[in-house]
Amino acid sequence: TATLKAGGARPARHVAAGGHGLRGTLTSEARELRSRGRRLIDLGLGDPAAHGIPAPAAVVTALSGRLEETHAYTEEAGQPAARAAVAEYFRTRRGLPGVGPRDGWLGNGVSELAFLTLQTLLDPGDEVLVPDPGYPMWPAYVGLCGGTPVPYPCPESNGWRPDLDALARRAGPRTRALIVVNPVNPTGAVWPPEVLGGLAAVARAHGLVLFADEIYDGIQYVPGPHPPLAALAPDLLCLVFGGLSKLSRVPGLRAGWVAACRPPGTARAYLDALTSLAALRLSPNTLGQHVIPAALSPSALADAAALTAPGGALHEARRAARTAMARQEGLRCAPLDGAFYAFPRLDLPPGTGADDFALRLLREKSVLAVPGPQFAAGDHALDTHLRLTTLAPPAETTAAVERVGELLAELRAG
Ligand code: PLP
Repeated sequence: TATLKAGGARPARHVAAGGHGLRGTLTSEARELRSRGRRLIDLGLGDPAAHGIPAPAAVVTALSGRLEETHAYTEEAGQPAARAAVAEYFRTRRGLPGVGPRDGWLGNGVSELAFLTLQTLLDPGDEVLVPDPGYPMWPAYVGLCGGTPVPYPCPESNGWRPDLDALARRAGPRTRALIVVNPVNPTGAVWPPEVLGGLAAVARAHGLVLFADEIYDGIQYVPGPHPPLAALAPDLLCLVFGGLSKLSRVPGLRAGWVAACRPPGTARAYLDALTSLAALRLSPNTLGQHVIPAALSPSALADAAALTAPGGALHEARRAARTAMARQEGLRCAPLDGAFYAFPRLDLPPGTGADDFALRLLREKSVLAVPGPQFAAGDHALDTHLRLTTLAPPAETTAAVERVGELLAELRAG
């Protein structure tokens, strides 16, 4: 009977087929090594707080004040004060004057909102265009919501920018949405306005909803302007995602938002359905919402901007990674234009893939990095790439890149 009972607990097919996200074998092995006392350099997960980059003072203050107000559920779409702060941010800082307080939905990170917005949109068999390479959460959620992710290529030979002709060819009668993540995880690319305009044109031609994951907005090292995708598609429904996990350095608070940018009065049925679905989870966590106004205050935004200026933690980690990578043989990397990732191509000996390399890097060199195939959505194998975060203090970042170089040299020497 024990076997019978266990058999009833098998996972659903659509979940078991997954292998979702970045928390796989490598992470469990890293945990195991740590529990045995090994000191690792962790350039795996994109978590600035885990590297000791402190949250803005205004956020820390908000986290200790009026906590008795954070015990209750909030409205299903989020606390009015936090929604108003998000709308104000979009209007005054992002150049989207049409966004009002009722155009924003709050959630437990972009992650939960991605799920809610896709679940609200997709019927079984609907297709969604996803960047390749790209952040694996998006195709995973498309699949879990009954849709089919259709990768569009963003080749390294094109500076990791999308091939717009290939994208247009992949849109078809079942395509419902186009997902854009900019600045890009994992490649560190920043797509310029002309590329965003090209993406909007494809969405317009095929009647697609735009999903703009701009969680890394503000972390750009190339000259602007850096308009939000929605500014280039005022005639379309564009869902713009952001939150406090990256520049505000409080990913553990699980605070994110999505703003619906659209011509006035359009997409009502979809957005009402989104609110109904959001009501099923009752409310996002209240503590995360409570700090949103502080995190979007001028002082916190100035504090965040200082991170990417000379002397700032992100700027210095990036500089260390670039300098160290330039010195290593057998490793080539596109310029780190934005976000906090490097995605170098490794000159691996035949027979060694990026998965093997990452495992050996962890076991033999105590460095945790994510192998390229985890970001592959389609034709790209990415079996020669490795993603490294540029978040650790410069000395650690440099040491990690040097150890990548050492392992490469050892492998190539046979
Ligand atoms: N979108 C992208 C592109 C990300 O890289 C991440 C986290 O790494 C997320 C969304 C998740 O954000 P959140 O912490 O708000 O759920």
